[in-house]
Amino acid sequence: MSEEKIYVTKSYLPPIDEYINEIKIIWENHWLTNQGILHQRMADFLKEYLGVKYITLFTNGHLSLEAALQSLNISGEVITTPFTFASTTHSIIRSNLKPVFCDINLNDYTIDTTKIESLITEKTSAILPVHVYGNPCCVDEIEKIAQKYNLKVIYDAAHAFGVKINNKPIGQFGDISMFSFHATKIFNTIEGGALVYSDKIYEEKFNLIKNFGILDETHVKCVGFNAKMNEFQAAMGLCNLRHIEEEINKRKFIYHTYYNMLKDIDGIKMPVTDSKITKNYSYFPIVITDDYKMDRDSLFDLMAKKNIFARKYFYPLVTDFDCYKNYYDSNKTPNAKYISERVICLPIYGSLNLESVNRIINIIQ
Ligand SMILES: *Cc1c(COP(=O)(O)O)cnc(C)c1O
Repeated sequence: MSEEKIYVTKSYLPPIDEYINEIKIIWENHWLTNQGILHQRMADFLKEYLGVKYITLFTNGHLSLEAALQSLNISGEVITTPFTFASTTHSIIRSNLKPVFCDINLNDYTIDTTKIESLITEKTSAILPVHVYGNPCCVDEIEKIAQKYNLKVIYDAAHAFGVKINNKPIGQFGDISMFSFHATKIFNTIEGGALVYSDKIYEEKFNLIKNFGILDETHVKCVGFNAKMNEFQAAMGLCNLRHIEEEINKRKFIYHTYYNMLKDIDGIKMPVTDSKITKNYSYFPIVITDDYKMDRDSLFDLMAKKNIFARKYFYPLVTDFDCYKNYYDSNKTPNAKYISERVICLPIYGSLNLESVNRIINIIQ
């Protein structure tokens, strides 16, 4: 008898009646997209939830990142890390900028801030660090470096929805932060994303660029694209926001169950994070070191054989992608390479039951 298949995540869906109720208004006003009433409501609620001054919604996280990079009037080089999802690097290249890869630290896998300064050149214009797995980067260090060299800081906060440092919302750091509301993220609008920022000057730029650069009927101000969030996405977000605390709490329980049962196993490492951080429990990465009984790929295959479909996030490193490997050398970021070759993200989502969590723990034990 084969056991139920378990994937790394399961997209959150609100009760169907709640969603139907939310979208009824669309049949009344026939307003499907372009800054509709649900879009406005979502933006207001999210701004409050994320504790930020300004927010602009987009149809996905990736185009939000491109909008940020392309609205800043920057050129030349952007310092980032290769231990991330394809989108981070693609957004830099697609904005005609050059990524410069900095290594990560071995505690929480975010950018190693002690290595940033040596990568800064005359051409450096911005830093694009990633709060990977929702682990906040060393924001104070990054701020200091950015001030000293007059660089912009854009955070890829795709994983960090609701995270806080010392009770300060993560979106308050840097010039701009990007959140992703993709179906696989802890909070979803089916597809979706947002930029948050505290300088009002960006608001008009972002609204223009996500709507083809169109200001009004007779004025097109910049070479924009189409990246607007539609009303059905916003409706999903409004529903899911009502359940986000419950989802985070359920994940928190799973997170601690995994943590307590795995922490004493030889060769299983987990990220070390500061107690001042309010987590969102969106991912559960483990790193398989040489002290474990088998290597990462063997454990991964064993789990798959038992219908547990974990993920090797993030493997391969961006710099080893077919489209990048001839231009960049992943040996220059040895920590990123090390983690990438050993990491597995275990399944974690609110509706994952304790029996399944124990099944996964048993295999690893
Ligand atoms: C998901 C993700 C993105 C892109 O977001 P989409 O909403 O899928 O376009 C960017 N960066 C990271 C780190 C991500 O995980």
